[in-house]
Order: sequence, then C-alpha cells, then structure tokens
Amino acid sequence: MTQRTDPDRGLLFIISAASGTGKTTLAERLVQILPNLRLSRSYTSRPARAGERDGVDYNFISREQFDAMISRGELLEWAEVFGNFYGTSHHDCERLQASGQDVVLVIDVQGAAQVKRSGIDHTSIFVLPPSFEILEWRLRGRSSDSEAAMQRRLAAARAEAGCYVDYDYVVINDRLEPTVVRLQEIIAAERSRTHRMKPIAVDIIDTFRE
Ligand code: 5GP
Repeated sequence: MTQRTDPDRGLLFIISAASGTGKTTLAERLVQILPNLRLSRSYTSRPARAGERDGVDYNFISREQFDAMISRGELLEWAEVFGNFYGTSHHDCERLQASGQDVVLVIDVQGAAQVKRSGIDHTSIFVLPPSFEILEWRLRGRSSDSEAAMQRRLAAARAEAGCYVDYDYVVINDRLEPTVVRLQEIIAAERSRTHRMKPIAVDIIDTFRE
C-alpha cells in the first residue's frame, strides 16, 4: 500500500456491509459528528427511489453516461449490484482529499476489492450485523421490497459475509451509537499511524535539538 506522507491530505475510508446492516445510517452519523469527514456521493444508473434526490443521495445518471465515465477512466471503482451500476468518481475523491478532508465511501465488496488492488492508500471497514437472523429481521422491517428482491438481498448477504477477512477492520453493528463510537475510534487510530504522523513528528523532533 502507498505510504502517505502529506499531512494535509485527507484519508480515504471504505465501509462495506450487507444491505440491512445499517451502513448508510452509520456513515451519515459519522459525517454529522466529524466535521472533517465527507461522504462520497456515488454515481449510479439506478433510478431514484421515492424521496431520493439527485446530487444528494446519489448522482443519478443514465447507463450510457455511466459507460462513458468508465471508458474515460473517471471511476476510482465501480460495480454492478442487483442489476444496477454504481461507481465512485476519482476526481470527486481527489478534490476532497486534496483539500484536507477525509472521505468515506460506502461501497460494495467488489468496489472495495478494486480500491485495494489499485494500491491507493485507504482504510477499509466491514460492518457485520450481530447475526443473519437479525439482519433478516431488520431488512424485513424496513423494506418494501418484493419477496424475490428480499431473497436476492439475503443471498448476497450470505455470499459476501466472508469477505470481512479482506478488510482492515471489522465492526459489529449491534447498537447504533456504540458502533458509531467504534468507527470514530478507528478513524482516530488511523490518523495516528506512524507513517501519517511522521511529517508532524519530524517538526516536533526538530525542537528537541540542542
Ligand atoms: P442501493 O441501491 O440500495 O442504494 O445500494 C445498493 C448497493 O450498492 C449497496 O450495497 C451500496 O453499498 C452499493 N454502492 C453504492 N454506491 C456504490 C459505489 O459507488 N460503488 C460500489 N462498488 N458500490 C456502491
């Protein structure tokens, strides 16, 4: 992994989890609490659901526009999830990180694997529900999905849960607020990594010289 040395550059965080685990709620709470953290707004070919707004929840684009972004190399990562395409703009992330803001991507396991392969400096967090039964109960409680769509989500959750081994951190979302605290702790710990602190530490060490 690339070792970041610019102390003014923001960090990149990835959060992945099965749908129904609460990852979006967790990420939204985090950005409310941490003023320096921004949620990356993905591009998707999925039509907006009732209540979703373009440029707020997602950048809603056509499949043709999505394909054009891929061929122009504008996506840091992208994936097809449940028949729709989702991706992260390289430029959007770069602009935020270059301005010193930390960025969080809430993306699926395929996208997270692409970022890992690219060698870009990042920290990945996998959020697990306390059990499969609880995940199913949460999904059924919140969703207006058809039974077929529900079964598809549950099958994806079963298939992808084992991917946690490829992530830097694993967090169990049993209750929202303690889980948010755990995520904040991870972000703080990542900021304090030796290679990230080095430029600041070097200046401090200079003051120690006789
Ligand atoms: P939904 O359609 O329910 O908003 O999202 C479906 C799935 O797509 C979620 O698992 C979400 O994490 C994933 N997703 C959303 N944006 C992106 C993205 O930019 N890249 C990737 N790889 N997955 C995404």
